[in-house]
Amino acid sequence: MANITVFCRFRPLSSKEKRDNGDSVCIRSMDSETFVFKDEKEEEFAFSFDKVFYEESLQADVYEFLALPIVRGAVNAVNGTIITYGQTGAGKTYSMEGPSILELDDLKKGLLPRVVDGLFECIKSADKSDKYRIKLSMVEIYMEKVRDLLDLTKDNILIKESKVQGILLSGVTEICISDPADALQSLSSGIANRAVGETQMNMASSRSHCIYIFTVQSELSDKRVKTGKLILVDLAGSEKVEKTGAEGKVLEEAKTINKSLSVLGNVINALTCGPTTKASHIPYRDSKLTRILQDALGGNSRTALLCCCSPSPLNAAETLSTLRFGARAKHIKTSPFVNRAQDKLAKKHEDVAPTKDELCERIL
Ligand code: ADP
Ligand code: MG
Repeated sequence: MANITVFCRFRPLSSKEKRDNGDSVCIRSMDSETFVFKDEKEEEFAFSFDKVFYEESLQADVYEFLALPIVRGAVNAVNGTIITYGQTGAGKTYSMEGPSILELDDLKKGLLPRVVDGLFECIKSADKSDKYRIKLSMVEIYMEKVRDLLDLTKDNILIKESKVQGILLSGVTEICISDPADALQSLSSGIANRAVGETQMNMASSRSHCIYIFTVQSELSDKRVKTGKLILVDLAGSEKVEKTGAEGKVLEEAKTINKSLSVLGNVINALTCGPTTKASHIPYRDSKLTRILQDALGGNSRTALLCCCSPSPLNAAETLSTLRFGARAKHIKTSPFVNRAQDKLAKKHEDVAPTKDELCERIL
């Protein structure tokens, strides 16, 4: 069993926060894992995470601590998931993509381009007798529908479950990527297809959850195929509806987002309510998001959560809610293992549950 690793990242104060409230911040760093947070009533709370990234942190460090072990795992057929969580404007997309997915400045590149580079580098240094193939799919969950960002005609992808392969998106577009530049072009066109709205928080904020899926297949010398799945999730903003001043369609979007994020919270509560009171029912099926993240939260995945926060006292209530979410998630345990090599021709056996021996090589 492995705990979900939980990281916290504070972005620099925005120019608006500085204009409205000067340089004051609501956190005091203790060390690289612990800080004290002060709420609106000056009450103090200490929080500890696997690592805390403060405003001067480098994108490369976030990648190295949070993503690199998961990328290496995926190339070795261990599934992994990386999730960014936080209110709109807290730095989720900056952490995931960088200022833009095609950012050229190496200092500013986000997790996604670094993951792409990392996958190809790991493959280069892997056993030369194995043949690798990387496939990419991209979907967003918008108004509780799963839309294929690489083919917008597929606007209601169904979620299925295979006993061997876990959660699957039925008929989703999968493109083979041949090198990092090719991957970035596809990611860029997929991102351009996202549903984006404008809220009174005065920025283009994504009103959908965006999910990137890399499937790394390695064909072994005996022709069997091993697969590792790496999922990155840029969640929609976790702020409360009232604060955004939303109306009409935007209000409906915000309510749907709040609902799926509250189901995510319910799933985490059910998974972490302790051995004596352990909930027998985990409500994964209550939202598309938790259904897709079922393996990431309670199954075969090595999972990292990045809680993105503003350091400004003006956002203290939302930040506290994000920190509490992260603190809760630290207790979730998943069971990642090396996926069994599959005979290429044995497709008809896909839905037969593996035996205990076949689910071997537990690595953690
Ligand atoms: P979110 O995706 O959570 O809504 P963004 O990632 O779009 O938020 O970030 C909001 C703004 O803050 C953007 O202008 C972004 O460039 C800036 N920003 C976020 N995180 C950082 C950071 N670590 N360093 C510098 N700027 C950042
Ligand atoms: Mg965003």
